[in-house]
Amino acid sequence: MSQRRCRAIARMSLFIALAPAMAPLAAQLPDAAALKDEAFRNIEARADRLGRISDAIFSYSELGFQEVNTARLLTDLLEEEGFLVERGVAGMPTAYRATYGSGSPVIGLMADFDCVPGASQRPGVLSHDPLVEGAPGHGEGHNTNPPTVIGAALAMRDLIDRYGISGTIVLYGGPAEEVVASRGYMVNAGLFEGVDVVMDAHIGTGFGTSFGLNNSAIVSVQWTFEGVQGHAASPWTGKSALDGVEVMNTGMNYLREHLPLDMRFHYVITDGGEQPNVIPAKATVWYYFRQRGYEALVDLLDKARGVASGAAEMTGTTVSERILSGSWPINGNQALAELLQSNVEAVGMPDWSDADVRFAEGFQRAMGKTVTGLPNEVSPIRESRQGSSSSDAGDVTWNVPFARLSFPSQAAGALSNHHWSAAIAVATPMAHKGIVVGAKAFAGTMIDLVTDPARVRIIREDFDRQTEGVTWQTLIPEGAEPPTFLNTEKMARWRPLLEPFHYDPDSPRTLLQEWGIQYPPSGGR
Ligand SMILES: [Zn+2]
Repeated sequence: MSQRRCRAIARMSLFIALAPAMAPLAAQLPDAAALKDEAFRNIEARADRLGRISDAIFSYSELGFQEVNTARLLTDLLEEEGFLVERGVAGMPTAYRATYGSGSPVIGLMADFDCVPGASQRPGVLSHDPLVEGAPGHGEGHNTNPPTVIGAALAMRDLIDRYGISGTIVLYGGPAEEVVASRGYMVNAGLFEGVDVVMDAHIGTGFGTSFGLNNSAIVSVQWTFEGVQGHAASPWTGKSALDGVEVMNTGMNYLREHLPLDMRFHYVITDGGEQPNVIPAKATVWYYFRQRGYEALVDLLDKARGVASGAAEMTGTTVSERILSGSWPINGNQALAELLQSNVEAVGMPDWSDADVRFAEGFQRAMGKTVTGLPNEVSPIRESRQGSSSSDAGDVTWNVPFARLSFPSQAAGALSNHHWSAAIAVATPMAHKGIVVGAKAFAGTMIDLVTDPARVRIIREDFDRQTEGVTWQTLIPEGAEPPTFLNTEKMARWRPLLEPFHYDPDSPRTLLQEWGIQYPPSGGR
């Protein structure tokens, strides 16, 4: 048994031993402002640790459903800190739920942690410099999300222990967000039942939150065509499954003209055969469909089904469909967002150092962007609008009051998300400061919720109003298994090449020191 786990158990037994003496302690509960001061000091004391966790996840560079090292690091840490950890929840080996405390309110905290293909990049370096050419990388900065919620959760745990506060913290590990694949299954498995609110951490260039309908509903579908293998020099012997895929894609691109403007679909051919002289017996195409609402999305999916079966008929092949996942758009709760925003405003922006600002300016200049440095004001709360992106967090938001916090661990200047340039800032000292303020905003909001239960009721009333007349239903077919096969082959290829770069969060040196990277880079101004 680890030393830390011993301590966790010791703490629990201490708690039990002291339980009868808790009542007078609870009566001495400081007011919310004093509790927040205590929580913020707690988070600052752990700031270095939180940054190292973020950097370790960055170094693992794990694609969706293959976040093995990431999930191990986070679940081991939470277990050692005394949380009840359930691994492999809802049929996904890298998904977890970690719980601490008891009673109401039940506060969920959620964080994505997967990366994206082809975005490998040395952090803090202002030109394309992959750790491993072509490998996955944190080109959206999801590495910063888990430490932000963990920082808040540990601070809250310490307050619960010290003052006998009623309240339950539930941390959700969110694998495979980039393939929008995990949260729908977690909702369907009942993992959010009995939860009063869920707050989600997402890295951004600003610090703030929003409410209302955001982004698009999405469904992720693969069609596999099957034909007859043969010699391509005497092609009358075979039936090409790839022809089925190509005719389907052609049909879909003709359909595109006649679809509403708020609709998007995109595809990749994940299996198009082996070599030109062998007629492929099997071929698979993978589509994402996006539209604002559920009904319109299902209508679009039905149209695509017609195109798929038409393509099979035209090419003499057969076709089968597998829905991998789907999600409704995000529906942010206004009352919760306002509470979270009040804490964002109380915490304020990080105290950026001269080095942080020089780094950001150098980054923006190197990317050919307007040089704006780093923001010094928090972002005002805003009502969302429905854009064309999607998140599998969407399904959670129709089941539990939800707010997403954008925390400032990214510097403006990246050429695009899902691009190596978006991985430059996210494992540097400025990213670490964003994690700290994000954790404080979450902790402050949790303190408001546990010290004033009326807030939970107001948030629930707002949720009921927002969802009135709407019946959420999953886009995932009954009995479907999470597509945990995704990225298996890719990570089998990349993991051994990335392993030499794995960063140990217990190292006496920072990630940038380990990799010999200067911060800010010379020529940053
Ligand atoms: Zn993301």
